Amino acid sequence: MTAKHNSGHAVRRTVPEPEPELPPPSNQSALHAPVLVLNASYEPINVCAARRAIVLVLKGVAMAEEENGHYLHGARLTLRVPSVIRLLEYRRIPHQTRALSRKNILLRDRNTCQYCGMPLGSSELTLDHVIPRSRGGVSTWENLVACCHSCNRRKGNQSPVEAGMRLLREPRAFTLHTSRHIMRLLGHSDNKWRKYLFY
Ligand SMILES: [Zn+2]
Repeated sequence: MTAKHNSGHAVRRTVPEPEPELPPPSNQSALHAPVLVLNASYEPINVCAARRAIVLVLKGVAMAEEENGHYLHGARLTLRVPSVIRLLEYRRIPHQTRALSRKNILLRDRNTCQYCGMPLGSSELTLDHVIPRSRGGVSTWENLVACCHSCNRRKGNQSPVEAGMRLLREPRAFTLHTSRHIMRLLGHSDNKWRKYLFY
């Protein structure tokens, strides 16, 4: 398999189209199984739910590269549920494709307080502005980190230096590289993803 980056390909603008109707599923959970999405160049670019992947295949936007062995039985149609799909046309992926959200910051920081290193449940973590908002700190990828409540209290309205606290690592935007790392973690449960993720 080659994983070439054909960035020279024409970029097609995506026009929203009506979604084809799916057969009523006999197994709802099969529709939520994660599916790895590859660019036309075989570069992994995303993870989506099986339902979305099937819609993309039915619309002729993508093709199934791997199947997960499950079937979706409808009234008139039986579909194989994909495990990996590939877009038929190359899509240019901007460097920062992820939305800045609490969920994505916690995902980036792997639910770990970025000051004391404690891994915690989402409800036990808060978002800390590294440079506090009261001091002009903005809500950006580079200035928001996952933080436990006790570190958050300790830091208060101070910068990490003033509070004598250190960040585990420099907060960065959630890039394709980060996403790929997450995909690898997710992909451990699906052997069919491996050959696309480890190259
Ligand atoms: Zn902490």
